[in-house]
Amino acid sequence: MALAPPASVEIPSSVLIIGSGAFGLSTAWSLSRNPQFKDTSITVVDRQPFPSPDGSSIDASRIIRPDYAAARYTRLAAIAQNRWRTDFAREHYQEVGLAVTAWGPEQKYVSESLANVRAIGTDKVEVLNSAEDIARACGLEGKDPWGNGCTGYVNWSSGWADAEGAMMWLREEVEKLDRVKFMTKAAKKLLIDHKTNTVSGIRFHDSSELRADLTILAAGAWTASLIDLRGICKATGQALCYMPISKEEEAALGKQPTILNLSHGLFMIPPHKGLLKVARHGHGYLNPTTIPHPESEDPHETITISLPYTHMDDPSQAVPEEGQRQCRDFLASIHPSIAQPSRPFTKSKICWYTDTRDGDFLIDYHPKYKGLFVATGGSGHGFKFLPVIGDSIVECMQGRTPEAFKGRWEWPVERIPEEKWAGDGSRGGPMCMILKDEMAKSRGKL
Ligand SMILES: Cc1cc2nc3c(=O)[nH]c(=O)nc-3n(C[C@H](O)[C@H](O)[C@H](O)COP(=O)(O)OP(=O)(O)OC[C@H]3O[C@@H](n4cnc5c(N)ncnc54)[C@H](O)[C@@H]3O)c2cc1C
Repeated sequence: MALAPPASVEIPSSVLIIGSGAFGLSTAWSLSRNPQFKDTSITVVDRQPFPSPDGSSIDASRIIRPDYAAARYTRLAAIAQNRWRTDFAREHYQEVGLAVTAWGPEQKYVSESLANVRAIGTDKVEVLNSAEDIARACGLEGKDPWGNGCTGYVNWSSGWADAEGAMMWLREEVEKLDRVKFMTKAAKKLLIDHKTNTVSGIRFHDSSELRADLTILAAGAWTASLIDLRGICKATGQALCYMPISKEEEAALGKQPTILNLSHGLFMIPPHKGLLKVARHGHGYLNPTTIPHPESEDPHETITISLPYTHMDDPSQAVPEEGQRQCRDFLASIHPSIAQPSRPFTKSKICWYTDTRDGDFLIDYHPKYKGLFVATGGSGHGFKFLPVIGDSIVECMQGRTPEAFKGRWEWPVERIPEEKWAGDGSRGGPMCMILKDEMAKSRGKL
């Protein structure tokens, strides 16, 4: 069980947030607007200039949906979505619908999700009972169940957001409040006093230090390089492929819903700014990496954990051949006229999820170290909560974890080996792929 927030840090005089992604930036926004923190200095540090080119929160698009098999997320997403519709980055949100489909065991997720969106009173839902039905509702050319799925539904009140645009919007909102100091610098190690088990800030790579009463780790998939998250969180790399598209094609496809086929995890979001995106919400690539134990005083002690490896580490990085082939097969199945062999993906990238054992976020004080709070575990579905997640994080900081997430967002009682993780039931497709093996297989083929 996590430590209760010590009385002395309930309203800390200084807060240091590591990571300026959806979790970190929205926390800074919430703290800045909260009168209880009016005397607290707030600093946000990110290893990359904003918007972080390889951060998970920065991309052309993210799906905004209350379509969840877990009702607690349906309800929270519905609150967030109301904000997207009204007063939060409105110009970056499009409500064109989302088709959630499947042909395998993932149909269970689809039917539970359908029940949950109906339970919150969504009436703009259309049930689809065949690949043909799905093709009609989504404006697909293909009729093949592998691509389309054979059952599913469209929720016409789901949508998507220009993730980078929305993050830029939020950053401006935070800057207008003039409460937060932003720094571009990579944190190397937490400042841990092992006698008192207290964290008092971070050390940078140039050995300089930044101290604070409360350090909030919101470094996304990189969080595991700063604390030991074995058996709690792991980074999984997801495939994204982009294809330039004409204005006419964009106008036609832009009115269609996103299609997400959970059986292989492949999905297509309507094109934006001349680019069509086809991607996979799956088990992802693992990148086992051996690093010095982030919490140890002994520099020779190491741990091995999956960490991100991105186009910022290797500018020539592309999605492995198996991932590009799957994205292309999916496009060829749903829109054969667009996926002609002469029309390649011109860009691909690997974007990193911070997966937890069951898809629940990790938002809690560290159970061992005073002065340390962790806000991560986005598990491939955190972005839609951008308007509200900061407020939820601050509630958890104040010992007021929302009722529905008690025992869910808290630091787990035990570490569970990754091969025993159940997941949230939304992931299909290949499992246990190791990034460097898939890269090696691709060499010469891309
Ligand atoms: C391909 C993909 C598709 C997704 N699709 C959806 C979707 O459709 N809908 C949805 O709701 N969610 C989606 N998600 C999930 C969502 O994007 C994430 O849950 C969310 O963006 C995570 O935010 P974060 O703040 O935890 O991480 P990030 O946005 O990655 O932020 C972490 C930040 O920490 C910084 N950092 C790391 N290490 C250090 C360090 N040592 N020092 C300083 N700074 C550091 C990084 O530079 C980064 O900016 C998707 C994610 C991916 C990868």
